Amino acid sequence: MKRQSIVAANWKMNGGFALVEEMSERLAHISLQESVNVVVCPSFPFLSALSHSFIQHELADTFAIGAQNVNEFDSGAYTGEVSADMLKACNVQYVILGHSERRSIYKETSTQVAHKVKQALENGLTPILCIGESEAERMAEQTETVLAAQLQPVIDEVGISAFANIVIAYEPVWAIGTGKTASPAMAQETHQFIRTFLAELDANIAQKTPVLYGGSVNAKNCEELFAQADIDGGLIGGASLKADEFTVICSAAKGTN
Ligand code: PEP
Repeated sequence: MKRQSIVAANWKMNGGFALVEEMSERLAHISLQESVNVVVCPSFPFLSALSHSFIQHELADTFAIGAQNVNEFDSGAYTGEVSADMLKACNVQYVILGHSERRSIYKETSTQVAHKVKQALENGLTPILCIGESEAERMAEQTETVLAAQLQPVIDEVGISAFANIVIAYEPVWAIGTGKTASPAMAQETHQFIRTFLAELDANIAQKTPVLYGGSVNAKNCEELFAQADIDGGLIGGASLKADEFTVICSAAKGTN
């Protein structure tokens, strides 16, 4: 059985109506390999526009829309926050959670991330759960400890079986937006650790959970990264803002065994 591969565009606080339109036009002309899903995650104000644009270009059944965050509560006095219901009203299917920028700049803890994962799952949204170590943690040979500490609160909150509906994105913090990509071998070794960690709890789930790589992926390095046995696509930041480059990356993704 082939594992699903996913290429997700994380536009962060970039892009707007023009990029929504350009991306739809480019996506309308790409061919994807079997078992590859593409998810585009613009900022909240453009989710609805992307949904309309996908419908207009007849792409809504082929490509998915993702958000970059969700609040852990249903509704109420949480000024500036966005609920799962609001995302679903914009045809959102995925949500990026635990991105290192949210963990470091907005001080989101792994416990809070776990609550958000639960809220997403309970509302039928697929979490793209980001985990990753800092450069200092890698230098101190703490990578596996850090990744385990980021995964465990989510496992405790939702249970291992819920990982059938979770996508993991391994994003070494030192590789995000820096141009310093992990070597394919280094990334593969860490992805294998993540899968083994899950397999210790449920081997079947571990085989099914897509584990994406993120961190300075571009049109030049994507093929070698995606060729690794345990890399099931990518979470793409900077390169996803260039429709041409992003579509090259999408076309390079393979469904894995
Ligand atoms: C990201 O922010 O998720 C990311 C991987 O960014 P970049 O591709 O720019 O390193």
